[in-house]
Amino acid sequence: MLNADSSMTDRLYYHDSFLYDFDARVVEAFDSNGRPAIVLDRTAFYPTSGGQVHDLGMLTAEGQQIAITEVADEEDGRILHFVSGPLAMGTQVHGTVDAARRCDHVQQHSGQHVLSAAFIRLFNMPTVSFHMGEESCTIDLETNGLSPAQAQKAEQLANEVIAEDRPVGIRFVPLEEACQLGLRKLPPKQTGDLRLIDISDFDLTACGGTHVRATGQIGSILLRKAEKVKQGVRVEFVCGLRAVNTARRDYTTLTEAAALYSSYIYDVPEQIRKLLAEAKAAGKAQHKLLEELAELSAERLLAQTAGSPQVITQFFPDRDAIFIKLLAQKLTAGKSAVIALLACGAGQPTLVFAQTPGQKSNMGQLMKDAMAQLGGRGGGSVDMAQGGVPAGGVGLERLKTVLQQTGANLKASPPNS
Ligand SMILES: [Zn+2]
Repeated sequence: MLNADSSMTDRLYYHDSFLYDFDARVVEAFDSNGRPAIVLDRTAFYPTSGGQVHDLGMLTAEGQQIAITEVADEEDGRILHFVSGPLAMGTQVHGTVDAARRCDHVQQHSGQHVLSAAFIRLFNMPTVSFHMGEESCTIDLETNGLSPAQAQKAEQLANEVIAEDRPVGIRFVPLEEACQLGLRKLPPKQTGDLRLIDISDFDLTACGGTHVRATGQIGSILLRKAEKVKQGVRVEFVCGLRAVNTARRDYTTLTEAAALYSSYIYDVPEQIRKLLAEAKAAGKAQHKLLEELAELSAERLLAQTAGSPQVITQFFPDRDAIFIKLLAQKLTAGKSAVIALLACGAGQPTLVFAQTPGQKSNMGQLMKDAMAQLGGRGGGSVDMAQGGVPAGGVGLERLKTVLQQTGANLKASPPNS
């Protein structure tokens, strides 16, 4: 991991994570799939690697400012800088690293070391991967399960180590020597000297990333969700300012929810439970009322309608499908022969055709014919059928007309075979 030959880029961030300004020379300049790219003889820009995301920043060359859009680590030890405009070979540049972004990455990455070590120390759960995202970071722990109490314990220990402000050292040692030191993790590429990150008396691991000088700079660690994944358990966390911003956002959300209930934030779950129970009870009561209303409506409609069978054709502009289905059931549940042709306008405009069993009409066929005229979809059995018309479709007047025509046709020529 050390620069063994001169074609490799001198990685200034290896020795100082807080170096934001540097001078360098362009040693390669080319086009990489339509994007201008350069290699510098030395750089403080961190390339995406080891779970840590690349830096951003600016290059100043001959009074001109060029943005760094991405930094990539090459197999051969060169660092590629993707730039907003081309730069010629040999150009002297001044680089400026986006310090706020770097600082955030340093906090997240160093926090990960502390957290991974805490999981090892407490529960012997090794970290198998680390991912740094835009909003939060995750580590994957090799374990069958992680209880909320364990997560909280690891969070507690990690924050204690942060508060102790333990020094974080960087040193380079030969591989054979490193193997004797009991590192938490060895890098996949084991050639040359290893760069070791040493959190005093707490964690020693090989890593090429940027880290704090002492654990206090991490600020804090906040664990978020833990979920089962293929290789174990994925733990989401945020460090430093991200932890503060996340806690701020959580609090704002909770406060908004609490205001809706006029309660304290810690009472919100209880309030939601109460409201859900109330909503369930109200729903039951409403359904009971609807049944009673359907019963009464059925009695009234039957009393008003003559003939055998009694053909009842009725449109309910303000009622929904649930009500007309209930009504159809009530109308056709008795002993006398009834055909109910019902429609509603609330919610999705719906038709329900039903008859007392043993009659010669076919509700399913009547519904198909009606839907063909209305551009809707529906069907059913001989005795009961339902069809819906798209809400923005033909319009309620047309629905009413088709309903009335169906009723009139049925009365004019009742099926007799
Ligand atoms: Zn690291």
